[in-house]
Amino acid sequence: MNARFDQAIDAFREVVDAPMATFFASCVRCGLCAEACLFYTETQDPRFTPIHKLEPLRRFWEQYCTVMGRVERWLGLSKPLDLEELTAWGPLVYDACTLCARCSMACPAGNDIVGMVRKMREGMSLAGVAPEDLVGATQRAITVGSPMGIKTETLMAQIRAQERETGLHIPLNQANVEYMVLLSSMEIIQFPEIIGALARIFQHVGATWTISTDAFEATNSGIQLGVSDLAREILLRVVNAAERLRVKTVISPECGHAFTALRWEGPNLIGRRYTFEVLHILEVLAGFQREGRLHLKQRDKDARPLSFHDPCQIARRGGVLEEPRVLLHAISEDFRELPDNRAYSWCCGGGGGVSSIERAEPLRARVFRKKLSQIEELGVHTLVTACANCHIIIEDGVEFYQVKVDVVGLTEMVAEHLDEQAARVRVGDKS
Ligand code: SF4
Ligand code: SF4
Repeated sequence: MNARFDQAIDAFREVVDAPMATFFASCVRCGLCAEACLFYTETQDPRFTPIHKLEPLRRFWEQYCTVMGRVERWLGLSKPLDLEELTAWGPLVYDACTLCARCSMACPAGNDIVGMVRKMREGMSLAGVAPEDLVGATQRAITVGSPMGIKTETLMAQIRAQERETGLHIPLNQANVEYMVLLSSMEIIQFPEIIGALARIFQHVGATWTISTDAFEATNSGIQLGVSDLAREILLRVVNAAERLRVKTVISPECGHAFTALRWEGPNLIGRRYTFEVLHILEVLAGFQREGRLHLKQRDKDARPLSFHDPCQIARRGGVLEEPRVLLHAISEDFRELPDNRAYSWCCGGGGGVSSIERAEPLRARVFRKKLSQIEELGVHTLVTACANCHIIIEDGVEFYQVKVDVVGLTEMVAEHLDEQAARVRVGDKS
């Protein structure tokens, strides 16, 4: 028991840095971060304010890193941090935080609150108080290659089914191609049509691509759990496959945390640059559109009033803000923005590993009311998104509240609106 606590303290010591000292010294307890966090706004429970979630880390910093705090701890004047307290904070730090970073954006002191939550998770994982569901998902990602335990045989069955459906060949393990596509477990199991959609799009634009059977999984549950070593191991599987195949670009799929892990944190995690570029699938599609390679039906646009849910890791944290709009305006006649959109979008409530934690389900359903109220305010019955996890969470949420909303993945929607005739005519013009 004490050994585990010592490990947590060691982990906290390792992550102490200047930003942490600045963070706790500069927090003026203004409460603005609370109003930015859907776990607080939807429950009004003060335990769910972002700053309260960090209380054990603040106490660690005070008791172990400040002179006054050390003296008080030695004299027994402050209640020492212990394993029991860390355990009690598990439901706050894991179940009630999607790592959405809306709080970080709201802090007038510029504090990276979500960065601190991740430091908390790092210590709590080492102390053995992380949720078992999330630990299990990460172990499966290491041993099987996928957090949902999907093996290559399952991927192959879905690929063959999509080949039959589309009549197109899906290239596997091809070297020297332009694009290596990753998929999330959620896509492979719940939305395999995405594989066929990608095949149709690459065929349409004439790009070379492949899926690696050694590294097809994009999700990085090591990041969600808060264990850098495991996050690195999961990431290296992708990096090694992409470098072995000498691909130009790795495409991060419709999965939020995969993009954060691969695009923004990966080079720091492995301590070097990649030899390839990383793009989100929406960046790739918007690029094809910009270059005039993506021909979308002009006369047969989607007539349904629809809106777009910006996945936190792709929009707020990933900077992919305008690309989905470029695509949606091209395929929809009636695209409407949600009240808070782009970097200000509200989380679906299931990111950051929350969707893997069974005990978090009632809370997740409760906080989904934020997104639901915005969809209802707008009056649309079709919501497009670009993250398979958001997709499933929103479908679960509208089902729970018995509201009729269709959820659609943007890549699939683009594939459905390809104008093959226009593409053939323009190719003919050039020849
Ligand atoms: S990262 Fe998002 S869910 Fe977590 S505390 Fe901040 S606002 Fe709340
Ligand atoms: S918004 Fe920033 S300064 Fe205000 S309470 Fe939150 S962390 Fe502290």
